[in-house]
Amino acid sequence: MREGQRRILVVEDELTIAESIAARLRAEGFEVELAHDGPAAVAKAEQVVPDLIVLDLMLPGFDGLEVCRRVQAHRPVPVLMLTARDDETDLLVGLAVGADDYMTKPFSIRELAARVHALLRRVERSVVVHEGNRAESTIVLGDLEIDPVERRVQRAGEPAHLTPTEFELLAHLAGRPRAVVPRERLLSEVWGWTDPAATRTVDSHIKALRRKLGADLIRTVHGVGYALEVPK
Ligand code: CA
Repeated sequence: MREGQRRILVVEDELTIAESIAARLRAEGFEVELAHDGPAAVAKAEQVVPDLIVLDLMLPGFDGLEVCRRVQAHRPVPVLMLTARDDETDLLVGLAVGADDYMTKPFSIRELAARVHALLRRVERSVVVHEGNRAESTIVLGDLEIDPVERRVQRAGEPAHLTPTEFELLAHLAGRPRAVVPRERLLSEVWGWTDPAATRTVDSHIKALRRKLGADLIRTVHGVGYALEVPK
């Protein structure tokens, strides 16, 4: 592997789709590993430590949700989830499963490659920002503590395991506590998107943050956006 080369794990049981995704990503300079069922995906993720996982939802063995859960339990890794239908994506967004982005089949391979690049840029940009601020101290808001260098979060002394996107979203809200941040602005600043139809992606990640850190932490301002409350 060349230094700095990014490693992507592609998990897809339909071999023609898996191969075409792999071919495109390799052509773009990524190192690509493949897995074709749930258990193999988890084993492969532990073995190769990918920078990002492209993960089909419906898989033999166990499904993409379970793969996501097991892999994320070890360390946060960005996940681009593939679904067969739009309503599956809606369901997953509602469940806030910990994926960073979703695509519904059939999709263009070119668009998938663009999403992979965007997701990696998002993760890497945030690392660079935080490494550039070594002196930056832990943000303490009531019983919530955010360490921007180590990218660790805890509430009332309990560590929370956030995905890279969840961390970015929380850090954005924590940068302006109590202020209402519009969903469109979060979408453009955290995800780098300007498509207003995609704001439900923000909603799903807010849901995940509430599940992991407590429902009282983030206030919904209907029709506008979200605000981080300062916990007691
Ligand atoms: Ca499948």
